[in-house]
Amino acid sequence: MLSSAIIESVRAWIDAARRVVVLTGAGISTDSDIPDFRGPNGVWTRNPAAERLSDIRHYTADAEVRKASWRGRIEHPVWSATPNAGHLALVALERRGKLHALITQNIDGLHLRAGNSCERVLEVHGNLHQAICLACGWKGAMQAVLTRVRAGDEDPRCVTCGGILKSDTISFGQALVPAVIDRAMQSAHETDLLLAVGTSLRVFPVANIVPIAKAAGARVVIMNAEPTQFDDIADAVLNGSISAELPRVCGGE
Ligand code: NAD
Repeated sequence: MLSSAIIESVRAWIDAARRVVVLTGAGISTDSDIPDFRGPNGVWTRNPAAERLSDIRHYTADAEVRKASWRGRIEHPVWSATPNAGHLALVALERRGKLHALITQNIDGLHLRAGNSCERVLEVHGNLHQAICLACGWKGAMQAVLTRVRAGDEDPRCVTCGGILKSDTISFGQALVPAVIDRAMQSAHETDLLLAVGTSLRVFPVANIVPIAKAAGARVVIMNAEPTQFDDIADAVLNGSISAELPRVCGGE
């Protein structure tokens, strides 16, 4: 557990702040049994070939990649995951009136399930709970498509146009949704305290939120088990466990 002095400092900064912006990554959900990508037990750390499944060019070109992706979606730990103390700490932060925006790279939907409001949560990489047609833009419930996969349709197609279906998440090589990423970047200019939690800060443009907030005059706090490239511009770096430390700095249970 981190020393009380650094926790007290960050907590005092949060108490004094008026517009806290939190940027979360996969690390906040590992204690909900959803592995991250690049941590010591990350999906890509253990199996570098899995990164191929996250590239839209391979997904659209190769039916075997799509079949493997659909198998992965069926088995994804998100379906049985529940929010942990880290997610609940950010709900407490919102209830205290401190949270300006909660920008998440996560696709697991756990911030909304924990109780943060949809007005505050910006899911910049989409959400696994929804499916989308890459041709006509149809969107629908992921579980309905997974029912077809379980019934033997290994590479399900859009019932409207026959196009390729995918989870409504942003893969490498895919454009971000302008309305969502623009709001996230704008909030980086507006915040007086930026808290980056459980992210390796290696995915851009989202990682730029940290230097943008710093340049705009905000305090920057990074909470991550491993070093990041922006630790040197942070006012505090907390390397402890998120589910243990985030409630201590946010005022959650
Ligand atoms: P990442 O895997 O690159 O980095 C996660 C970081 O969290 C690592 O540096 C790791 O050391 C740290 N970490 C893990 N568990 C921790 C804990 N309990 N306490 C403290 N630190 C911990 O993740 P990223 O930066 O979010 O980028 C990965 C991309 O993969 C994102 O774009 C995201 O969309 C996607 N992703 C999402 C999920 C999810 O929705 N839960 C899971 C895996 C990947």
